[in-house]
This record gives sequence, structure tokens and C-alpha cells, in this order.
Amino acid sequence: MTITPRLDERQRPAAGKNGPEMSWQVPLSDLLVDDEIETVVRNVVRSGWWSMGAGVAAFEDEFADFCGAKTALAVTNGTAALHLALLAVGVGPEDEVIVPSLNFVAAANVIGHTGATPVFCDIRGGEDLNMDPEDVEAAVTPRTRAIIVLHYGGHPCDMEAILEVAARHDLAVVEDAAHAPGARWRDQMCGTIGNVGCFSFFSNKNLPTGEGGMLVTDDGDLADRIRRLRSHGMTTLTWDRHRGHASSYDVVAQGFNYRLDEMRAAIGRVELGRLRERNAARARIVNRYRAELHGVRGVQMAFASADGNSSAHHLAVLLLPEGHDRDAFRGFLTSRGIQTSVHYPPIHTFSYYRTLGARRKLPATDAVADRIVTLPLYPHMTDRDIAAVTECVLRAITR
Ligand SMILES: *Cc1c(COP(=O)(O)O)cnc(C)c1O
Repeated sequence: MTITPRLDERQRPAAGKNGPEMSWQVPLSDLLVDDEIETVVRNVVRSGWWSMGAGVAAFEDEFADFCGAKTALAVTNGTAALHLALLAVGVGPEDEVIVPSLNFVAAANVIGHTGATPVFCDIRGGEDLNMDPEDVEAAVTPRTRAIIVLHYGGHPCDMEAILEVAARHDLAVVEDAAHAPGARWRDQMCGTIGNVGCFSFFSNKNLPTGEGGMLVTDDGDLADRIRRLRSHGMTTLTWDRHRGHASSYDVVAQGFNYRLDEMRAAIGRVELGRLRERNAARARIVNRYRAELHGVRGVQMAFASADGNSSAHHLAVLLLPEGHDRDAFRGFLTSRGIQTSVHYPPIHTFSYYRTLGARRKLPATDAVADRIVTLPLYPHMTDRDIAAVTECVLRAITR
């Protein structure tokens, strides 16, 4: 199989859905590449300043504004955002952090990197795949320091109940809003409800920059700690010194290099301007999936009765009838050029986390683990793409 794209594909890599290695009729997610994106990146490249500078600062200001947060801090990726958030709220060795097992593994990994221990909690069930606040409370021990809240698929968690648990036990709340830029809980944006919110700009997320991430917070002390840890614990940046704003620096913490660069910030600013409209397009596609698939032949769509307007609709997740062969189902869709995925194999089932995972029972997570399938979802899906997916799902179910 060739991995070198033809020249025309290299110029417009994704819009034609022709990734270099596999050509799906309907991919799981897809980027739209256009002249504006190419122009802003070219302008940065030509500017001669590529590392964190004025473009990153502008992206941060615009993102903070969008969220209604005091401060936004751009980082290398969403995992780095989670890592810094935990360190900033004071998580360290001997602590425990509660996190849903039905989640991407990054959150559990970074809890470990701080020296703390992840404690897995359950979800509410097949309709609501978000964490169950009652099980969060059941998971609290004297060592618990923080909760990482995942707004699964972009659907806001029951933050009222989670904030109550946090307040009762004096826990920090870190929101993993990787799926949820633009999602709202009541009148607040996801990411701005807890102590600090974390976003990812990975290529398949709602606001893609390739790699990239952002933290948002209203807490000035947290922001200061995050800003310092992001750049080696140093008190000034290369950018400050370049501008003549500083000529030396002190090191006040054992930090990291988690900075974002100017090329990605330029893409991020364009994508941020398109986010509302793109999320609305995602909502319309999910509504089509619900209308055509939910309740048909034993198939369910997750979050089918949730308020679709408050979600960022990062994922369209279907639940197969109990006992249905998921591999065969996905295999049939693959054979028709329709890409699917599983978000996620629960973290407690992975080899590395199995021992830790066995400490708590997660019946609702276990009950959906073999039934969930993620369907293609990206804002520029056509009616034909959607129909291809729904027809294929229904055929696969009756086979
Ligand atoms: C994508 C994602 C991350 C990690 O973000 P990266 O930018 O890929 O590091 C973390 N948590 C969740 C829920 C995600 O979806």
C-alpha cells in the first residue's frame, strides 16, 4: 500500500476524503482544508516567528472570550492541558483522582504522571454515558484530591450534582472538555464550571489544529502556576526577551515545555471562528441519525433524549442490541467503506490498568462496553454520506 499521496491530494489533503493510506466512502471524521487555512499558515511561516508569540496570545484571548473565561492558556495538546491542570490544583503523590473509566486513556495516564492514583467511576447508563455523580461520591476516600469530569461526546455532565460532591469533600474539579468546546451547561460554557477546563485540538476534534490544547480558568493563581509550568518553570519567555520586555529569567518550578506554536495558533483562530456553525451542523447530522436509527430494530442512540442544543456533538454513538456481535457489525460497515470506532474501550480493561481497575465495580460501564459504536460525524457530511451510514447500519443489524 502506498503512503505517498498524489500531488493534488497533498495540496488539498482531506477535503476529498482521500487520506493517503485508506480511502473510506465515509470516514469517521474529516478535515476541511481551504484557502484561508493555507493563507494564515503561510503568513506565519513567512513572518519568521514560529514559536509561541503574538498569534498564540491572540488565540488565547479569543478562546477565553468565546468561553466567557478570564484566562485561556494554550498548550501542546489536550493531554498536556490535563497534566498542568492537575499539577496546578495541587494533585501529587499519595492523592487519588476520580475519573470515569469510559474515557480516553490520557486522563488516567496524567494522573499517574503526577504521582497520584486514578480511581475509576461509573457512568449513568446507555442513554447517558456521562459519569454518575452518585458513584463519584461512592469513590471518595480521605485521599481523594480531585475529580476529572469528562463531558462525553460533548454532552455536558450533571455539573450541579458533581459540584455538590466536590464541595462536600473539598475536591478540585478539572473539566476534560476535549469533546466539548462550545457546549453549554445552563448558561455556562463547558470548561468554565469547575476550577479549570481542558481542551484538545487534535485533528479529529471539533476545533482542530493538528496537535494543540487549551486550559481555561477564572482563578488567577491557577493561571499563574499553569503559565509557569508550561514553559520550564521560567519567569519570562523567549518571546518577552525578543521584544525587549525582559533580558533574563528565574526558574521557580520544575516545569515542562508544553508550549503551542504560531502555525497552530493561526489555524486555531480560523477554526474558532467557525466553531459555532460547525457544532450546529454536527447537531443537525446527529438529529438525522436519531430520527433514522433510534429505537429501530433494537438500536439506540446514546443521549437520544438529551438537549441537543447544549451539546458540542463531538461523537455520534450508537448502542447495538444486547448480545449483538459488534466486530461483525463493524466489519460489515468497513466492507462498505464506512469507518466506525469505539469511544472507548473502558480504561479499567486495558492491561496496564486492570489491577487498579479491579478495585471498584463499574456495572453500567461494563454493560455498554461491548455495545457502543461511534458513527462518522463531521460538519460537512452530505445527505448522501448520512444516508449511506444509516442504510448500512440497518442492513448490518438485520443480517
Ligand atoms: C483527545 C482527548 C484527550 C487528549 O487530547 P490530545 O490533544 O490528543 O492530547 C484527552 N481526553 C479526551 C476525552 C480526548 O478526547
